Amino acid sequence: MARILITSGPTRQYLDPVRYLTNASSGRMGRALAQAALEMGHEVVMVSGPVEVEYPAGVEIVWVTSTEEMLEKSREVYENCDGLIGAAAPCDYRPLRVEENKIAKDGHPLVLHLIETPDVVATIGSEKRPDQWTVGFALETEDQRFRAITKMERKSCDLMVLNGPEAMNSLNNQIEILDPPGNMIKSARGTKEEVAQVILATIQEILIPS
Ligand code: C5P
Repeated sequence: MARILITSGPTRQYLDPVRYLTNASSGRMGRALAQAALEMGHEVVMVSGPVEVEYPAGVEIVWVTSTEEMLEKSREVYENCDGLIGAAAPCDYRPLRVEENKIAKDGHPLVLHLIETPDVVATIGSEKRPDQWTVGFALETEDQRFRAITKMERKSCDLMVLNGPEAMNSLNNQIEILDPPGNMIKSARGTKEEVAQVILATIQEILIPS
């Protein structure tokens, strides 16, 4: 049995008290992974941005809003976990300045200065203990395998799940699981629930000691 941290959903980066940047991540892949992990007898802690889907009963949920908060909470939770599955789609940019009051229209173009947020999977990957593992997701539209393998190395992941853009906010997914030498060790296509079972079975086989 393992204790697994799953990051899930989008994050939000506020520009002012009422407006924010975000993306279309639904949290469905995270939910399906959590369900599959529970069914295999693992403990699951989710660090999730705001989503409408309901996570399965039996998982511990830590709610967050921004990418920085997702990183902070994930780091705390990961201390007591065996592994991380990074299924979230954290915002990669945040406004340099968050206005205290609602930005008022003044008839001129509004220029936003955005700076990069930290990468949750990469940061945790760079800090993990030798007995801990991390699995990342890569959503690529071109040079898919090459980019996913490069990403796996950059983010110090032990496995990388490659999926196409059709995964975003959809019920289905098509994936390939890549290992650090770049081998495609599994592929699957189906509902997110079906695909999640293949991902968890592969993690169980390769990363979780029996
Ligand atoms: O670089 P890219 O966003 O394509 O990488 C996707 C992987 O990195 C996913 O596992 C996602 O959860 C993770 N990620 C992250 N923090 C970010 C951006 C992506 O953990 N700021």
